[in-house]
Amino acid sequence: EHLIDQIKAGEVVERPANVLKELLENSIDANSSKVRVTILNNGLDLIAIEDNGDGMFFDELPYAFCRHATSKINNFEDIYRLNTFGFRGEALASISSVARISCHSAPRANPEQGAKFVIHGAQTVEHSKYASHKCGTSTYVKDLFFNTPVRLKFVKSGQSEKNALKRVINSFLINYPHVEFAITWEDNDPEIYRAQDDIKTRIGEIFKKKSRKHRPEIFDTDGEYLGSHCKMYISKDSSKGYSGKQQYLFVNNRLFTDKKLHQIIIRNMEKIWQPGQTGDYIMQLHVPENEIDVNVHPNKTIIKFLKANEIFSLTSATAKKLISENED
Ligand code: ADP
Ligand code: MG
Repeated sequence: EHLIDQIKAGEVVERPANVLKELLENSIDANSSKVRVTILNNGLDLIAIEDNGDGMFFDELPYAFCRHATSKINNFEDIYRLNTFGFRGEALASISSVARISCHSAPRANPEQGAKFVIHGAQTVEHSKYASHKCGTSTYVKDLFFNTPVRLKFVKSGQSEKNALKRVINSFLINYPHVEFAITWEDNDPEIYRAQDDIKTRIGEIFKKKSRKHRPEIFDTDGEYLGSHCKMYISKDSSKGYSGKQQYLFVNNRLFTDKKLHQIIIRNMEKIWQPGQTGDYIMQLHVPENEIDVNVHPNKTIIKFLKANEIFSLTSATAKKLISENED
């Protein structure tokens, strides 16, 4: 029974960044307006998420750690979402089978009726009362892969884990500008990202390079084609090489990678970047859920578009529009 849990967990939880993504998604789903993130030892020692969202009642909390215990499938559209992004209602169960989790939660309706729940490697350690003045959920994932040494060994170098964690955090910063985030890495001071009405302010913070004082100029535009939408943000700054580049593709708020779409954007932006250089970009696609391939793994960030040529056309047209709108 435990072995099966651990094998299943391996499908969802390959590395710390997967845990972070699932926990942040839950906080967003719970309507949080403030989220604090703390990461120690690149997520292997601690990934802590504290939110001010809807919270859970005493009886609900243990159930959140049971397989298939999702509260989120209510209608037909949700089933598309389920098929599209794979496992639903499995994340907390999977994570709890390969880590030591301590969670306390207080429901919005009555924050005094909350609970604390502790679970180590799928074994419940504690379920006790927790009374608070404000609603929200705090989840502490400690000692990730403590009981799966092979998995622990395969987690890559510190820097590559850190980059993966940063990419997850930036994805949420970009897609949820109205949410305030406080991010603490190791023993450093928290990085605060205030809630923004204007997504461009948030994107400016992400595109800003530590080595340069100024905020980069950002070009943006949008496009629409046959029921799909596209928003594009491009930093005017460019530089050589690939390290430290902020380049993101999203479909329906989910991060994915696609070489062809990347190439379309890079080629069109040659007109604004310095010769031989590239810069930061963000593209947010919104595509009907039933026009995305249903057989993709939640952690493989590859998406198959059923109308791929239309998406290529939309991307190319939007890139050209952005250039023509910003020609000197
Ligand atoms: P899913 O998000 O797919 O439903 P999870 O395993 O991620 O599955 O979470 C299980 C359930 O636990 C959620 O459906 C939700 O009801 C509850 N839950 C998890 N995290 C939070 C949170 N931060 N705030 C409120 N409820 C939460
Ligand atoms: Mg979830």
